[in-house]
Amino acid sequence: MATDIKSISLSGRKKEVSVKEMTFMEKIYLPEIAKGMGITLRHFFKKKVTINYPEEKREFSPVYRGRHILMRDENGAERCVACGLCAVACPAEAITMVAAERKPGEEGLYREEKYASVYEINMLRCIFCGLCEEACPKDAIYLTEDLIKPDFTREGFIYGKDKLVMPLEDKIEKIK
Ligand code: SF4
Ligand code: SF4
Repeated sequence: MATDIKSISLSGRKKEVSVKEMTFMEKIYLPEIAKGMGITLRHFFKKKVTINYPEEKREFSPVYRGRHILMRDENGAERCVACGLCAVACPAEAITMVAAERKPGEEGLYREEKYASVYEINMLRCIFCGLCEEACPKDAIYLTEDLIKPDFTREGFIYGKDKLVMPLEDKIEKIK
């Protein structure tokens, strides 16, 4: 006897779909349109979940971690001594640096004999975990509340000392 191929169902969950005739109410679509409009109206008066960014900004959580800052000391000298502990602690391997020795006369620029001549953070790799901040023995790196600005290139997300080191005028304002 030949097997009916259409009736075979490997999962056992096959369902026969019947093409039933539409009723008059289904054919005119009006009740369904009214139902749809009802749902739209209901959402129209609900509190909006979207905001008009950038004019409006959401309040961040007090523990929010954003862009890093490389701190200066009370005299305006860079605190970082290029020890590399932040880079070792970074789970995303986002930090790279080049150490250099301070020259005579540069005491006002760098706090200790060693400093980072290059210090870069790849913001595309960073997961803003804050481990670099915790690992730093010199209180030289902190995560601020600032957002990372959008950019069109990958290079634009590699932040060097020009973007990371605390501006000298900020330091001076805080001392005042
Ligand atoms: S916040 Fe975390 S991921 Fe980002 S640079 Fe610091 S240690 Fe690395
Ligand atoms: S930021 Fe801190 S941990 Fe990182 S290299 Fe500088 S001193 Fe060391």
